[in-house]
Amino acid sequence: MRSRDIERALRRAQQLCAARGARLTPVRRRVLELILAAAQPIGAYALLAALQGERGKLGPPTVYRALDFLLAHKLVHKIESVSAFVACDDADHPHQSQFMICDDCGATEEIQDEAIVESLRRLGEDRGFSVARQVIEARGLCPACRAAHR
Ligand SMILES: [Zn+2]
Ligand SMILES: [Zn+2]
Repeated sequence: MRSRDIERALRRAQQLCAARGARLTPVRRRVLELILAAAQPIGAYALLAALQGERGKLGPPTVYRALDFLLAHKLVHKIESVSAFVACDDADHPHQSQFMICDDCGATEEIQDEAIVESLRRLGEDRGFSVARQVIEARGLCPACRAAHR
């Protein structure tokens, strides 16, 4: 993401937290900034390494607490299959999303398809199962990598 877009996303996150009476502390803000700046989903240990480089000694719990906060406020999503995080640019609207992840370069695209969400919810209902959370991650090749493979 370009630095101007990152600045804008950070400002919006700040406003969102303020409206919810939550505090985007400097560490939480910096973690979000690192996730926004990463070209691909970024894991907790890469975040920890970056923060330690800037702020000196600092334990994994600090990063995990910041990530928990960002997840709770839907500012980031966790990509379960790679245990890494991506920023969400639609944090003000509750949504379930699906992800397309490139096997080659790791590029990850968030999509929001209500039909998929509804379909899985209904399939659960039919079985007396209550779906609380959906994890849908498609793997394959992104347009750029497909072009490079041709
Ligand atoms: Zn999202
Ligand atoms: Zn790719």
